[in-house]
Amino acid sequence: MVRFGVEFAPYMGIHTYRNMIIKDTETIGKEIPNVIRNEIITALAHYPELKSTHIRFKFTRSLNGSIMAARPQISTLLGAQKNRKYDILMSPVFKLKNSIEPLHQVDPNVLIGWIGHELGHIMDYEQRSTFGIARFGLLYWLSKTYIRKAERVADTFAVHRGMASYILATKDFILSHSGLSQKYKDKITRLYLSPDDIVQVVEEMQQSNNREGILVEEAEISTNLDHQEQESR
Ligand SMILES: [Zn+2]
Repeated sequence: MVRFGVEFAPYMGIHTYRNMIIKDTETIGKEIPNVIRNEIITALAHYPELKSTHIRFKFTRSLNGSIMAARPQISTLLGAQKNRKYDILMSPVFKLKNSIEPLHQVDPNVLIGWIGHELGHIMDYEQRSTFGIARFGLLYWLSKTYIRKAERVADTFAVHRGMASYILATKDFILSHSGLSQKYKDKITRLYLSPDDIVQVVEEMQQSNNREGILVEEAEISTNLDHQEQESR
């Protein structure tokens, strides 16, 4: 994905700047398995806002067909928002048609994109009250259109953070993987930003071209997500 490195070079400047300010503090409040530590640290470096957010990265076999999922720890939702904790659950293996592939052996850029998407969900949760998270959970469970919007919001957060090339690597990996089922690929195509959408988000971002503008827009993303859902009912 060298092409993106060149085309998006102006925006990459912001991400270098962010890397600088985040430096040694990116692991405050984090539990990170060693086997994919570098990938997690790289993805976290794009999200300075999550620098002291509690996030536990955890392998589990209970994901029911998903590869990764981001969730608040329910027991922490009743206290103050600053004490909230999140889990990013990861399946240790991909189940392929005829074999199994360990997650940590997947190309690092693909994993960084995947983790970046999950961190996008946490950004969305962070803008919600406990009631807002409960509402999110309910709508996500009830409404296919809401799932699609929520997944696209997570991708958008990651692209805004300068992760377009990683998100594209993840999509390319899934859609061109001969061992993954067509059903899974169709689901990804249906729910997530397409490569064209990603290029469009990057272009819009370059036009607005200031960090404050992007942050104001993001503050409205979660609210808009819920309002649009009400309107479409
Ligand atoms: Zn997602």
